[in-house]
Amino acid sequence: MAALIRATVCSGNPHKLEEFHELYPDWELELLAGVSFPPEDGVTYYENALIKARYGRLVGPRDRWMLGDDSGIEVAALGGGPGVQTARWAEGRHVEKLLAALDGEADRRAQYVCELVCIAPDRRELRGTGVLRGTVADAPAGGEGFGFDPVFVPDGERLTVAELGEAWKAEHSHRALAARALRDVI
Ligand code: IMP
Repeated sequence: MAALIRATVCSGNPHKLEEFHELYPDWELELLAGVSFPPEDGVTYYENALIKARYGRLVGPRDRWMLGDDSGIEVAALGGGPGVQTARWAEGRHVEKLLAALDGEADRRAQYVCELVCIAPDRRELRGTGVLRGTVADAPAGGEGFGFDPVFVPDGERLTVAELGEAWKAEHSHRALAARALRDVI
């Protein structure tokens, strides 16, 4: 039987802890609370995930694995942006901003990307990447998920991620794919 993984999610966001509970139901997880994280100034998702996990390794409990993540959306008609700048670019108005940016645009291709980094108690650094390709719908639909989910239609599906729902995300999202890839290398 695989050993129990006790991991610390290197984020101050309780929503992240819930997400990782879904992705790793057999891990014992906690949030890295009461610390102020360094700025996420990496130029890739991987660098940002590494910044969080390494900071956790520095200040967090020594006997636990440190889990860092970063994600974003890449839109073909925006030259692959906003990418690593997604959260800043969206300013909390994800759907509105994306629909406005693609107004009148025929090329609706986009992809969600997620990078996960896990640093072991012995300081081994492991990585998992997940990509979910799709297109941006003309109008929002569905009530689940968050961010761009109401306008993101994954390839092979006819519904938006917000319509497909949390159960679908737990199996197929960029984060779920990255989580599976990471588990495979641990
Ligand atoms: P973070 O790396 O989780 O902070 O996410 C970066 C940005 O990408 C934020 O603006 C999120 O809202 C957006 N984002 C990340 N994952 C998803 C998702 O699964 N659905 C919708 N938006 C997402």
